[in-house]
Amino acid sequence: MLEGLDPEQREVATALHGPVCVLAGAGTGKTRAITHRIAYGVRAGILQPSSVLAVTFTNRAAGEMRGRLRQLGAHGVQARTFHSAALRQLQYFWPKAIGGSVPRLVDRKIQLVADAAAACRLRLDRGELRDVTAEIEWSKVTQTVPADYPYAAAKAGREAPRDPAEIAHVYAAYEDLKRDRAVIDFEDVLLLTVAILQDRHDVAEQIRAQYQHFVVDEYQDVSPLQQRLLELWLGDRDSLCVVGDASQTIYSFTGATPDHLLDFRGRHPGATVVKLVRDYRSTPQVVHLANGLLAQARGRAADHRLELVSQRPPGPEPVYSEYTDEPAEAEGAARRIRELIDAGVPAAEIAVLFRTNAQSETYEQALADAGVPYQLRGAERFFDRPEVRKAGIALRGAARFGGNDSLLDDAVDLPSQVRAVLSGEGWTDRPPAGSGAVRERWESLAALANLAHDFAAARPGATLADFVAELDERAGAQHAPTVQGVTLASLHAAKGLEWDVVFLVGIAEGMVPITYAKTDEQIEEERRLLYVGVTRARERLHLSWALSRAPGGRPSRRPSRFLDGLRPGSAAVAGRTGAGAAGGIERGSTAGARPAVPRRAQRSPARCRVCGRTLTDAGEMKLMRCEDCPSDMDEGLYERLREWRAVQA
Ligand code: ATP
Ligand code: MG
Repeated sequence: MLEGLDPEQREVATALHGPVCVLAGAGTGKTRAITHRIAYGVRAGILQPSSVLAVTFTNRAAGEMRGRLRQLGAHGVQARTFHSAALRQLQYFWPKAIGGSVPRLVDRKIQLVADAAAACRLRLDRGELRDVTAEIEWSKVTQTVPADYPYAAAKAGREAPRDPAEIAHVYAAYEDLKRDRAVIDFEDVLLLTVAILQDRHDVAEQIRAQYQHFVVDEYQDVSPLQQRLLELWLGDRDSLCVVGDASQTIYSFTGATPDHLLDFRGRHPGATVVKLVRDYRSTPQVVHLANGLLAQARGRAADHRLELVSQRPPGPEPVYSEYTDEPAEAEGAARRIRELIDAGVPAAEIAVLFRTNAQSETYEQALADAGVPYQLRGAERFFDRPEVRKAGIALRGAARFGGNDSLLDDAVDLPSQVRAVLSGEGWTDRPPAGSGAVRERWESLAALANLAHDFAAARPGATLADFVAELDERAGAQHAPTVQGVTLASLHAAKGLEWDVVFLVGIAEGMVPITYAKTDEQIEEERRLLYVGVTRARERLHLSWALSRAPGGRPSRRPSRFLDGLRPGSAAVAGRTGAGAAGGIERGSTAGARPAVPRRAQRSPARCRVCGRTLTDAGEMKLMRCEDCPSDMDEGLYERLREWRAVQA
């Protein structure tokens, strides 16, 4: 269990009691160290699996951790997001603490905010509604009540989209409307759990009796509200292990703060603090650029930066490319990707990362033209497909009533039981002729039947209820196992992930940092965002920018200031090691001819990346989000909302 760890990681893994804080850079094995820590504790019989709660920030991360724990032989440990852990507790304790069942989640939040604005005699356009919604969300995770919003927003340096007093009114009206309509929103899940734990000592004691050990990954992302929940879970105990990298704080605008990470030792004076600097993910060339970016950083997070030391053999220098315009840039990236795939690099090992989701359209087009399969992160997940959802409901029903029903004799093995339920959904063993939607639907259900088969083989004696629980876990993990394309994702959505080849596109002034980043703190967060992007690459890194947006446009843009002194051709590159400067900057324009008939077959329909609804409105398609779903660029909330919806479904 400890063999695959270096001495510092081992120190983390074996410090099973008392508070532990791991401060470490990207790719240094933080997630690996805590996963091994839990597995080591469980396997050594020191930690009861059911007494451990591991908390992460996305479903994908939670699912990955569950998978890794299982591989390491640690079964039965809870690895969840804050929201999913809170939701379970809320559902369990609500009837006892409040009575009845948990209220329904509001499903047209923007509409509710519009109604609240109308009640305040304010007419807001779509953009304003989204911005006001973001302010309400921020207020809630920072535990700011409506009356305090103007003061708190000013103190936090937020640029209020309207008069702060107006926002405070809309926020108050929104809370009232929610109560009148008996619905709750996503933030309420945490707020209500906190409230119940604060008010009901019996409930708090029950939860504390269940969970003795807490582990939090990506702790630099914790919001004040999540921190409060963690403190309530802990009570007066201190068996808490947190890991994080202040240089990867990229969710400040949603209320996340690295202060809890950086102040950990102050709050837990006896804490074991471990620093990891060996980077196992990236080549020395990639790590060199990452260190260079951080060397120029300012502010509190930067004061705690750690110089990374690559543990990997040398690889190619980062490639810098300058293009005349955005379509040329996208074509350039698509052409290179085509070459890489033709040379044998798996498409799934390549990612294109951009600052705003609106940029994805150009890259989708270019990749489709080049015949490259791609996937938008989060779009069209297997478990989101309607037929899979429907089958899931049928299986859940069968699992619940199976005990009393002869629809499922216990003597029949699990795969047969699952097939019986699926045949109730119109599925047969034989695939239908042709391709198309009918075939796709059949394939999805066949995949479920195969899953049941594999699951029963791995877990002899497993019941239908066990299988349904397994499906829920997989659904939560947000994996799309059937998709093997190039990943298109925003920099925010790429956090915690890694690929052999990463294309960072649109690295120009106005994009990174984005135009609306104005204060020093906002600019520093943009720099960290680029750092997160750079550190996703294992082997090859491509950075590119375009001098104008459209072909023939005035060349009014320049490469991102964050690359000054780091990219070839800019001042102070001299003295750097490697062939980076020698490689120079490649230049490209739209000269490369587009195919006469673009191959669009690989394009998936535009869907809202929050709720999965197919989009038809051009404005919504540009944003890849329907009007009712929450505010711009908040990937963390998207993940959490998807999770809520998955749980609700
Ligand atoms: P991030 O900051 O991006 O979340 P991280 O610090 O959590 O990164 P991991 O994802 O745990 O890092 O590890 C990065 C990569 O390095 C993974 O591929 C992991 O398997 C590998 N790795 C970590 N530690 C070791 C080790 N001791 N020996 C070999 N490989 C390792
Ligand atoms: Mg990690």
